[in-house]
Amino acid sequence: MVYSGKVLERIMENCIFCKISRHEVESEVVAEDETTIVFKDIHPKAQTHWLVVPKKHIHSVSAVAEDEWGLVLDMVKKAASVAKRSGLIGYKLVFNVGRDGGQVVDHVHLHLLAGGKMELP
Ligand code: AMP
Ligand code: ZN
Repeated sequence: MVYSGKVLERIMENCIFCKISRHEVESEVVAEDETTIVFKDIHPKAQTHWLVVPKKHIHSVSAVAEDEWGLVLDMVKKAASVAKRSGLIGYKLVFNVGRDGGQVVDHVHLHLLAGGKMELP
C-alpha cells in the first residue's frame, strides 16, 4: 500500500517506528544519521538484535516505490557498517514482508541478529 497526504500524515503520527525516529518514544539507539536510525529490538531473538529503520515512513518492502530502492540499499549498507564497527563477524539480516511473512510493524525495517541461539524474528 502506498499512502500520501493527510492519510500518510495520520499514519506517521501513530506509527511506533516514526515515533522512535522522532525521539517521541524511547529506544536504545545504536546509531543514527539524517536518514536512518538503528535501535535495539525490545524483544530480542538473539544476543544482539537491532532494527535498522529508515526515518521515511514506507509501509513494507512490498510497498517500496521505484525511486525509494536506494533507501533500502542504504539500510543494508548501514547494517553492515554498524555491524563492522561493533565487531560483529557473522550475523543475519532479515526483512519480514507482510503479515504472512511475519511483519507486525508496518514501517519497513531490517532485523540484524547475531550471537547465541538465534531465532527468526
Ligand atoms: P516485525 O515482526 O518484522 O514487524 O518486527 C517488528 C519488531 O519490532 C519486533 O521484533 C518487535 O519486538 C520490535 N518492536 C516493536 N516495538 C518496539 C519498540 N518500541 N522498541 C523496540 N523494538 C520494538
Ligand atoms: Zn512509520
